[in-house]
Amino acid sequence: RKAEGGNGIRVFEPQMLASRKKRTETEADILRGVEENLFEPSFQPITCLASGQIIGFEALMRLNHPEKGLIPPGEFIAVAEETKWIDHAGRQLFSKALSGLCALSRKRGDDRLHITVNLSPVQLTPDKVAFMERELAAYGIDASRLTVEITEAVFMEDNDRISESLRRLKEMGCRIALDDFGTGYSSLAYLTRFHVDTIKIDQTFTKGLTHSDPALAARSRRLIEGIVAIARKMDCTMVAEGVEDEEQSLQVLTIGVQYGQGYLFAPPLPLHEALKRV
Ligand code: C2E
Ligand code: CA
Ligand code: CA
Ligand code: CA
Repeated sequence: RKAEGGNGIRVFEPQMLASRKKRTETEADILRGVEENLFEPSFQPITCLASGQIIGFEALMRLNHPEKGLIPPGEFIAVAEETKWIDHAGRQLFSKALSGLCALSRKRGDDRLHITVNLSPVQLTPDKVAFMERELAAYGIDASRLTVEITEAVFMEDNDRISESLRRLKEMGCRIALDDFGTGYSSLAYLTRFHVDTIKIDQTFTKGLTHSDPALAARSRRLIEGIVAIARKMDCTMVAEGVEDEEQSLQVLTIGVQYGQGYLFAPPLPLHEALKRV
């Protein structure tokens, strides 16, 4: 079939129609989420590998749709970033993450618990940083308990707005983590361009440790050893992502990684479930 009719009217293939429809539906869901305050965090524990103690939580965004239930970020984040609605979604998430942290700290009787949030490049604006500062004050949470996770995409858009926002976050006392470390290109260069406090070792490397081919597993182990050496030189703490079994947990601990996150410890949890774990 021809993609273009002789009269200039486009004839769409069925799958193009389907993806258009999906896109429109995603945009409608996001808009509804923004209007009805439906964006909320799931809380995934970050655990000290040596002691087994939960030291904090990563707040992962969900769209709690009245009919469809919890929609994971993979289904809407890209569209939300493109349409800039991520800013509103992120503010809803942030306030709920802080109020969740208060509840978790109260439950444990420990005001050192950490919270970690993900920020994409479009979210790094002076306005957003000012909002975060106000919210931290409103909830009475010290900025040092907040870690902002960024991916390398943040540095690819190298502009003053982003550098200035990150600088301000550091000034406030927040910590910066580099997410999915080792998966993008030239990630090492980013460590020199900004003061990163924490490196999150991507889950593909953690999984590699238990690869069925022992030679490949050994290569993953050596790679993580290399990342740990770099992290130590750069004075960064490390979190191994995607820890799914005891073997992986033991191996990353032995290599020198302090913290772990993954299904072995807990999946991302709704607040009432997270409260049972602290
Ligand atoms: P991420 O920041 O790398 O988050 C980790 C993802 O891995 C989460 O997926 C988590 O559920 C999943 N995960 C955790 N432990 C395990 C494990 O042991 N095995 C496996 N296979 N997966 C595990 P999720 O929640 O679907 O989030 C996907 C991505 O969406 C996140 O990746 C992050 O890049 C993005 N995202 C989430 N929340 C936000 C947000 O508030 N703002 C922005 N900009 N992006 C967000
Ligand atoms: Ca993350
Ligand atoms: Ca990650
Ligand atoms: Ca990611």
